[in-house]
Formats: sequence, structure tokens, C-alpha cells
Amino acid sequence: MSDQNQHTMQDPTSQYPKATAEWKQKQQEPGLQKEMNPIPDAGETSYRGTGRLAGRKAVVTGADSGIGRAAAIAFAREGADVLLSYLPEEEADAQEVVKLIEEAGQKAITIPGDLRDEQFCEQLIATAVEKLGGIDILANVAGKQQFVEDIADLTTEQFDATFKTNVYSLFWLCKAAVKHMKPGSSIINTSSIQAYKPSPILLDYATTKSAINTFTKALAQQVASKGIRVNAVAPGPVWTPLQVIGGQPTEKLAEFGANTPMGRPGQPAEMAPAYVFLASQESSYISGETLNANGGTPTP
Ligand code: NAD
Ligand code: MG
Repeated sequence: MSDQNQHTMQDPTSQYPKATAEWKQKQQEPGLQKEMNPIPDAGETSYRGTGRLAGRKAVVTGADSGIGRAAAIAFAREGADVLLSYLPEEEADAQEVVKLIEEAGQKAITIPGDLRDEQFCEQLIATAVEKLGGIDILANVAGKQQFVEDIADLTTEQFDATFKTNVYSLFWLCKAAVKHMKPGSSIINTSSIQAYKPSPILLDYATTKSAINTFTKALAQQVASKGIRVNAVAPGPVWTPLQVIGGQPTEKLAEFGANTPMGRPGQPAEMAPAYVFLASQESSYISGETLNANGGTPTP
């Protein structure tokens, strides 16, 4: 572990580097974090837990890399057992996370598979209930983002895959999980700055993110009386595999995050505390909220 952790006071504008020309790189979807340069910081050596989620049973989708990986590591260090969802091609990244969770003294269950499939989503929640003994936290972090410049080139196949991954899976996982959740449980969805400031080249993706905000607000009201809270985290530009597999044009990666008030991209480690806060009892009176973690860009 490093001397620095998420509590160390420092200047946030220089806490992490700005992008440079060396950040231009390309991988095939879904990509591997371990093959990125620089490798994103998901809190592997820095996140320090203080028992905020002791005894919780958590499901994290997209847990192999990026923001989901940072949330999974933080949840484990805060005392939760974690079921990790990811795609089979991402096994190498996922195994690194398994190791970190076990080093934190928690249980890690893996279930690779495609969230675009309703039956798989149901099976994932059933596995959590069986192997973790229940489900207290559902962090929906998996997502698909592929830029297309012209609507004429945006295929129905891609539009459908983006909605299946980002929106339908959320519906299927929440539907299956709510049945098992006790009062005090928490669902955390992953929105984006794209919900408010859509890039023209992310027509399908940005539209799914505003759907996620609305889904979050509606479901939060529906399950409030059951003692279940539903919130969202809305990241700004964060250095993860998503960006190097066609989420952005490769050329644009050299200035990734430069247009935020802080002038730099975020790192996955900086998203984790938002997920921990919304998962824990500290946020007991907060539901239907979107927590923006975007380097200072104003949001509605
Ligand atoms: P990431 O590539 O590390 O994570 C995305 C994960 O989604 C993948 O690791 C993969 O496991 C999972 N996934 C994709 N398609 C899947 C499928 N069909 N079945 C199962 N799993 C699937 O990138 P990330 O940036 O950490 O993305 C996490 C979330 O953060 C996404 O919802 C993304 O939209 C959101 N987000 C990211 C940024 C950013 O700048 N990186 C900004 C705003 C929002
Ligand atoms: Mg991944």
C-alpha cells in the first residue's frame, strides 16, 4: 500500500496527470485495463477502508476494470463480499480484482457473461443470493460506448446493443435483485456527464445515460417504502478501457479531460468513494439522487 490514500489532502488539479499524446492507443472491445498505457488507477494501492460496509453482500457489474473495478476494491476494503460481473474476454483483469478482494479478507465470486441476455441477468442475481447469502448492494457499472460520427452510419445493431447493455440490463438486474433486498439495501446506477452534455458522436450512448437518470428517479420512489434506496453516480471523463476501445476517436485521447474546469481526466479511484457513500448507511436519507463526479462541470 502507498502512503497516500483517498483521505490525503492535496491539490485535486495536480493529483493525477493530464493526458498527453502518449495516451493515444487502441484496443478491441471490451479491452483490458492491464494493457493500457498509462494503466488507470483503480485504488489498488491507495484505497483505505474504514469498515463502512461491514458484512454487506455486493454485486458489481463491469467489476474487472475501470470504475467498476475501483468500486469492487473499495467495497471489499470497506468489509463487503463481492460478486464480480464482466465479459469472458476480461478474465485476466477480473482475476487481478479477485486477488485484491481476497487480500482484503473478503469473498470474491466471479460470473463472466453477457448482460444483454435477460436469463443471464436473472442467473447472476440468483448466484449472488446463493453464494453470498443475499444481496444488499447492486452497483450497475457495466456499459457500452462506441462513437459514430454520422447517424447514417449508426447501425440498428449498435443502437440495440448499447441500449441492451446500458438500459435493459439495469431493468433486468434491478427487477431480479429488489425481490431479495432487505431494508437498508442500496442500488447504484452509473450515469454520465453525457446525460446532460451529449457529444454529437455519442448519440446512442448519451441517450441511454439520460434514460438511466430517469430510471433511477422513478425506481427510487417505487421502492422507497421497502427501505431500498436507488441513486446514480455520473462520472465525467475517466481514464478507463471504455475510452480506448472506440469510446472516443483515438486522436482525441491526447486531450482527454482537458475541457473540464479542473483541466484533467479523472481516474477510477476517484469514483469509488461516491459508490461507497451511496452504498453505505451514511446516505440513509438520499434516494433518487445523481452524484456528479466530473472535475467541476456544472450539471442541471
Ligand atoms: P470499462 O471498460 O472499464 O468498464 C465497462 C465494463 O462494462 C467492462 O469492463 C465490461 O465488463 C462491462 N460490459 C460491457 N458490455 C458488457 C456486456 N454485454 N455484458 C457484461 N458486461 C459488459 O469502462 P468504465 O469507463 O469504467 O465504464 C464503467 C461505467 O462508467 C459505464 O457505465 C460507463 O458508461 C460509465 N462512464 C464512464 C465514463 C468514462 O469516462 N470512463 C464517463 C461516464 C460514465
Ligand atoms: Mg473491462
